[in-house]
Amino acid sequence: MNNIANDIIEVKDLKVYFDMSRGFLEEILAKEKRQVKAVDGIDLNIKKGEIVSLVGESGSGKTTIGKAILHLVEKTGGNIFFKGEEIDPKNNKEMRLFRQKAQMIFQDPYQSLNPRDIIIDIISEPLEVNKLVKTEAEKRERVVRALEWAGLKPAEDYLYRYPHELSGGQRQRVAIAGALVLEPEFIVADEPVSMLDVSIRADILRLMLNQCRQKGTSYLFITHDLSLAWLISDRIATVYLGKIVEIGDARLMVGKSVHPYTKALVSVMPVPKVRKDRKMTILEGETPNPINIPSGCRFHPRCPNVMGKCRESEPELIEIEPGHFAACHLCSPHNINKKGPRS
Ligand code: SF4
Repeated sequence: MNNIANDIIEVKDLKVYFDMSRGFLEEILAKEKRQVKAVDGIDLNIKKGEIVSLVGESGSGKTTIGKAILHLVEKTGGNIFFKGEEIDPKNNKEMRLFRQKAQMIFQDPYQSLNPRDIIIDIISEPLEVNKLVKTEAEKRERVVRALEWAGLKPAEDYLYRYPHELSGGQRQRVAIAGALVLEPEFIVADEPVSMLDVSIRADILRLMLNQCRQKGTSYLFITHDLSLAWLISDRIATVYLGKIVEIGDARLMVGKSVHPYTKALVSVMPVPKVRKDRKMTILEGETPNPINIPSGCRFHPRCPNVMGKCRESEPELIEIEPGHFAACHLCSPHNINKKGPRS
């Protein structure tokens, strides 16, 4: 999965653990640190012009992976490469250049825009911070261009308005324009349409796709909705309790997924005939607490195919066919047939 030429992003064994605070006495008596293992050893690469989706339930660690790749949260371990170079988050110059090339679109357009600023000031802020424009005319031209890329036309109608004067869809387009104004090469889009009306979602997704295809921008698209990921991604990774449990080509992940967790997500997709052997699987229980990750396969308490071995040994992510990886004791290149793993 690694060492692929023209990778924009390459992540090796990424870990993000958060320490849990506790009472003074508990802290003294404790034998080991209590930690939330939000991301627990992720390998991932994203090529130029590629859209890779991370799919999983809330609490699976998807957003933390995205933020860690952008150095918005501190990693506990592992390596993150941007165009083959490892960025040092303590090196201000490196980080400033990285921030120009790698941006994030947040889920909530209501919170990601300062309500007291007009749109031209919101969008031009990163241009001014990075000293990328010299004149007012140049600034205005860059902002107009970004608004038009984001589908707000004519852009001049929006420049001097406040966020509260816009609809939810227009606000999310402004947030996207704010990410595009620096003409980044890589964007993490965290549930960018989940708070929008269904009618607006398609437009926003089309916009991202066009941007990707025309400008070669790479996206890490974070969503709990496998149907959306299937529509727009080149590859999909399913994430469970801080680990990738399956990754591959988007069509393959829906039509030939092999991991029981991915299969359960596919089984409830609101799309007819995505897979002939589809049987609805409703997963019981909630995602376990990431402070107490289950032994062996972390999915075993909820897995419909659990075996004795699953409780003791953690399956590795292995390549079961070219470009298709899964972490499950049922999955090996030998026991995959057209219907998926032996069960
Ligand atoms: Fe289920 Fe076992 Fe595979 Fe884990 S390793 S997904 S528990 S069958």
